[in-house]
Amino acid sequence: MTTHREPLDSVLETIGETPLVRVHDSPDAVPVYAKLESFNPGASIKDRIGKHMLERMLDRGDLDPGGTVIEPTAGNTGIGLAVAAGQLGLEAVFVVPERFSLEKQQLMRALGADVINTPTDEGMGYAIERAHELAAELDNAAVPQQFSNPLNAEAHYETTAPEVDEALDGAVGAVVAGCGTAGTLMGMARYFRERDPNTHVVAVEPAGSAYREFLGEEVAHEPYKTEGIGTHDIDTNALFDPDLVDDIRAVPDREAHAEMGRLAAEEGQLVASSAAANSLVATAVAHGIDEGRIDAPYDCVVTVFPDSSERYLSKGVYRSFEEWEG
Ligand code: PMP
Repeated sequence: MTTHREPLDSVLETIGETPLVRVHDSPDAVPVYAKLESFNPGASIKDRIGKHMLERMLDRGDLDPGGTVIEPTAGNTGIGLAVAAGQLGLEAVFVVPERFSLEKQQLMRALGADVINTPTDEGMGYAIERAHELAAELDNAAVPQQFSNPLNAEAHYETTAPEVDEALDGAVGAVVAGCGTAGTLMGMARYFRERDPNTHVVAVEPAGSAYREFLGEEVAHEPYKTEGIGTHDIDTNALFDPDLVDDIRAVPDREAHAEMGRLAAEEGQLVASSAAANSLVATAVAHGIDEGRIDAPYDCVVTVFPDSSERYLSKGVYRSFEEWEG
């Protein structure tokens, strides 16, 4: 599925080097390009951090071969870590709040991992606590902890961002990405701000999520259906650095849902709700640059499409908005 052309020894070598494709709804004068992360072997952007975090943790001796990784995860990180753990000789255990998609949990189990569910109402904070309790009970176990591990953002600084840079010959005016852990956005923002301090950086979250509290805004916390991005407790989002961000935009579920349908019907992109939210905000930023409301060093906006809509078909993503279960 990837752009690799030589025979490879391990599935881990197929991670990254994903295609960068124009979003056709963006203005011609300021195109938006999206990195299609479902081309990774575990079919999401999180394969990058699964491989990077585990390889570095083994190198550093934070984990020994034969050890166990335990991670609180909404799903894609579990799949990415499970792909890497299996190939690197590690066991994997995931603590997943119940509301997250069953497809993801089935894939983690198929890859050889154990999945432990926590009540949806207890949120991600509780899943994080349980992961640490379990790690303390086992020998040779470690919690990569994607929410606070700098290796998460480093994976994107070292792979996602340089791939984009090379594909566009450095002409990246703005970076837009939805924030779950914020690893994707922080890694890319740091890379492109080092290249040009005026690179415009925009975080994306679902309406109802609380990332805007980082900018001192008051936010009404509400449940949302868009999966993989947003927060209800900014204390858990230790990687997010407001100094690297110009703006945080909230996308209502209804708009993300409509854009998911449009991307499939008009652009042949079978991508999920977080990709749709990114597409809307990246296109709005491109119009802002085109109309002179946003300053950016180049007339080009980059975003990511983190995973595929196929992972959420059981939740009715392509049915009516009301039928879509968050
Ligand atoms: N979209 C999806 C589908 C995801 O699973 C995630 C990760 N939770 C993200 C976006 C956000 O990525 P990050 O954690 O790097 O902010």
